[in-house]
Formats: sequence, C-alpha cells, structure tokens
Amino acid sequence: MRQVLPGGTIGILGSGQLGRMLALAARRLGYRVMVYSPEEDTPAGQVADIEVVAPYEDEAVLRAFAQRVDVVTLEFENIPAAALTLLETLVPVRPGRAALFTTQQRLREKRFLAEQGFPVAPFYPVATRDDLAAGLKRTGTPAVLKTAGYGYDGKGQRKVGSLEEVESAFAALAGQPAVLESFVDFAAELSVVAARGLDGEFVHYGVTHNHHVNHILDLSLAPAELPERVVQEAVAIARGVLEGLELVGVACVELFLTQQGSLLVNEIAPRPHNSGHLTIDACATSQFEQQLRSVCGLPLGSTELLRPAAMANLLGDLWQPSPDWAAALAYDVRLHLYGKRQARPGRKMGHLTALATSPQEAAQRVRAARAALVGSQRQ
Ligand code: AMP
Repeated sequence: MRQVLPGGTIGILGSGQLGRMLALAARRLGYRVMVYSPEEDTPAGQVADIEVVAPYEDEAVLRAFAQRVDVVTLEFENIPAAALTLLETLVPVRPGRAALFTTQQRLREKRFLAEQGFPVAPFYPVATRDDLAAGLKRTGTPAVLKTAGYGYDGKGQRKVGSLEEVESAFAALAGQPAVLESFVDFAAELSVVAARGLDGEFVHYGVTHNHHVNHILDLSLAPAELPERVVQEAVAIARGVLEGLELVGVACVELFLTQQGSLLVNEIAPRPHNSGHLTIDACATSQFEQQLRSVCGLPLGSTELLRPAAMANLLGDLWQPSPDWAAALAYDVRLHLYGKRQARPGRKMGHLTALATSPQEAAQRVRAARAALVGSQRQ
C-alpha cells in the first residue's frame, strides 16, 4: 500500500470550493498542493502552491502535472475519462476510475444502485420520444426527467406534470440521453457523508438533514433527528455503496425519506459534499481532511460530531451589491468564503456554520446571521 505522507504533493483536478477546502486541509497537514483546471484565479488555485491552467484534454500538461504530484484526486467528478485514463498510467488516481465511471452518469449510477439491491425510485431510460411517453405511463405524473450526463444543483432536470408535456420535455433534452424517475413525495432529504480508506476502512458522519430551495442546498442540520432504525439503515446503505464502488476517498449518498418511513437513494457524489461542510467546524476531522487521509493511504480520522450544527449556504443572490459581513458576524457563526470574484444568482459563494446545543437552535442562529447579511439593505 503506497502512502503519501505529509510533505508530499497532492494533485487536485477541478478548482472550485471543494478543492479549496481540501487544499486548506492539506496545507495545514504540511502537504504541497497542485490544482489543475482550465480556469485561472480559482477558489482552489488561490490557496494552492501551484495552479495549473490548462484544458483537461492537454496530454502534455497532464503528463507534466502527473510527474510533479504523488497522488491525484478530484473535487469535481465530471473530469473527462480520457484525462483520468492517462493519469492513471502515471500516478495513483483516487477514487479509482471505476467509481468515477459509474457516478459520472446518472443512468449508470441508477443501474448500479438497482443491480446491487439498493432502494431507488422507479426509473426508465429515455433515448426517444416513445421511451418518454411509455415511461410516463408507468411512473404516472408528476415525474422527474433528468439528463443522464453532467448535471448538478437541479441543472438538466425538470418536473413533467402531465402526459401533454411529452413533446416539450423531449425537445428540451436536445438529443441528450435522460432518465425518467417517479416523483418522490418525500418527508425529508437526508445525506450520509462517509469515507473509505485504501485498506477498506470505513467511517461515516451519521445522517444530515438537508433543505433545498430551487433544487440547491440551502440548509443542512446535523445530527438529523430521526428514529435510530432510519439512521442505521441510511449508514448501512452508504457503507454498501462505497464498498460496492470500491471507492477510496470521501463520498456522499443523498437519500429521500418517504412519507412511509423508507429510504430511497437519490444520488451519489464521489467526493466531499456541500452537506458535509459543517464537519469543518463541528467534527473532530473534517470531510476534507478525511478525503486527504484516505487518498494518501493514511488511517482515517475520528468523525465524532463535537456539537450539533447547522450550515447555511450563501448564494450570489445575497450580493446586493455586497453583504453586511459585520452584521452576520455579530452572531456566533463561522464564515467560509470561497474567493469567487463574480457573484451570480444561484452561485455558491460561501457558507455559514453555527454550533449549538441542538441542530434546531444552530439552524435558527445560522438563518438569522444570513438574514443579517442583507438586513440593512432591506430597510
Ligand atoms: P438531483 O440533481 O438529483 O440531486 O436533484 C436535486 C433536487 O431535486 C433534490 O434534492 C430534490 O429536492 C429534487 N428531486 C430530485 N429527484 C426527485 C424525485 N424523483 N422526486 C422528487 N424530488 C426530486
């Protein structure tokens, strides 16, 4: 088992906020960090030792990058497969390509889940208009149509309200393969962030309760207040998924809790996840240090939740034109900003975390602090 020890160099593909928080954790532990993405002055590049700016298709730059790092990981799963194939021949890439291949495409991911016996909402592949019409007869309406390829934060998905929408919904796919899913009238959205080490060691952060607004995560609360049976089942599903994918690193399994009390897997993210950001302030080891430890082949850290916590995302909508930071920081909250120059509606610019004696109390405080960011401008 090849370990990468502090002092070594971590290569990160992708340069957004997940890469930034991984790079910060890595630097604290004495690693050097090289970030690779096509963009410049990025959230991760700003805190890395070296920011490589090149397309993922540039073989020569990829080769030079591989020579200078001891291990490659990613903060964004939609890295072109050819780049991963090349890098794998030169340096360890974790999580492995098999885990990425499965989770890069929604249909492959759903098939993996169903074949391995994990609970998922009924789904049907859609390549043609007739597939969509036939699928809708089986799911009934409403149903959710999602493009099979690249998509996040609800991008590439729409709710199909009636059979009359077949034409417009199919046209909107513009030829992309898709998955039609039954609409889940869920009681709650949950997630389990977990890690798997190079030697198969498994750790998890318990269950987080997530609230979305316009398909984007708005608020996460930990621990989720749920019957012990549901918590155990959610963790068992997450463990099975990470083991089934033979994933090395951190992953997040997003789940729906149905009105009947059963769990359905919605999605797998083969990397740290927005719902795990509160682990930075609330847990003994953050999800980012955990990612670092697992991809470096080190023992995994304690996932103990030191206090109940809540995290609120800060989207670009709050920049009108600039948030009142002092007002928010008058509350007992931790501010994390990602260094993005341009604030756009829906863009994740940062987050706030609060710790308290209960997740509800933490949520109240983090919401109040976020409201204070725009409070004075509203008056
Ligand atoms: P996704 O891009 O699959 O993570 O979906 C983003 C959000 O859309 C989820 O967090 C849910 O709030 C909602 N959503 C996705 N799929 C379904 C579904 N089958 N039924 C109901 N809501 C869904």
